[in-house]
Amino acid sequence: MTARIIDGKAAAAELRAEIGREVAALKAARKPTPGLHVVLVGEDPASKVYVASKEKLAAEIGMNSVAHRLPAETTEAALLAKIAELNADDGVDGILVQLPLPKHIDTGRIIDAIDPAKDVDGLHPINAGLLAGGKNGLVPCTPLGCMLLLKQALPSLSGLEAVVVGRSELVGRPVAQLLLQADCTVTIAHSRTRDLPAVVRRADIVVAAVGRPRMIKGDWLKPGATVIDVGINRMPDGKLAGDVDYAEAVEVAGAITPVPGGVGPMTIACLLRNTLTAYRARRG
Ligand code: NAP
Repeated sequence: MTARIIDGKAAAAELRAEIGREVAALKAARKPTPGLHVVLVGEDPASKVYVASKEKLAAEIGMNSVAHRLPAETTEAALLAKIAELNADDGVDGILVQLPLPKHIDTGRIIDAIDPAKDVDGLHPINAGLLAGGKNGLVPCTPLGCMLLLKQALPSLSGLEAVVVGRSELVGRPVAQLLLQADCTVTIAHSRTRDLPAVVRRADIVVAAVGRPRMIKGDWLKPGATVIDVGINRMPDGKLAGDVDYAEAVEVAGAITPVPGGVGPMTIACLLRNTLTAYRARRG
């Protein structure tokens, strides 16, 4: 069996085009233009690339796209003041603070300061709480992207066994909540899980969010399983690898996301979608 490849790049392009049409319709109706503001503190090379690409793709679909680039020595107080300014600005629909922040800044305090109605990264405790309660707030972008890919790949998720490997606030936990909302039977595995291969083998859906290159092997998978690989690991040769051993898994799975070109492109598309969701919720 060779798995069907779930093309995240194409799905993301389609989603961005759809959001672009909605933004164009708002402009045509003389409504305010949705505004996405991304805040970057410091010079982390990967973060700089991510912020540039968020800025570019938001502008491409016609949003007001602003990146605030602050020096690495920015104090926590100065960053809190910037967030207060963006919270108060009616033209700002979405605020994203690029993580990780420099060590002298308390990330939790910064996330808590973002207006939950503008928290397009979905990390504010109010949004996390809404998600845990099965209600609709703003949902973290990568988990939302995983769900859109799964819904495209499978006719129905209801009743399926889903195993999420990883329990981070950013990916594992929220994706598990979304799978539960979609009526899957959900197991969350982590570094203390006993006999992980046996747990993964039960799954109709595997979501891997571990950060360990090619850890999940082909013989850990149930034949025909749908595999969503969130991992992005830079290998010594400079290439990217997922958390799933793709070469092995592609022979066993029913459908699988590649790395790159799977979940990654969906993350930014979902950020744009969240910006529009935040716009609609705030402005009607
Ligand atoms: P994280 O915060 O480091 O969490 C990793 C999780 O994996 C933890 O819950 C950890 O368990 C678990 N884990 C570690 N080693 C394990 C093992 N040997 N067996 C089972 N579980 C193990 O990472 P993250 O932020 O969730 O990111 C995970 C991966 O996704 C990374 O490669 C990251 O680069 C990638 N990512 C991609 C996107 C995207 O846009 N595609 C977005 C975000 C992240 P414990 O809790 O027990 O320590």
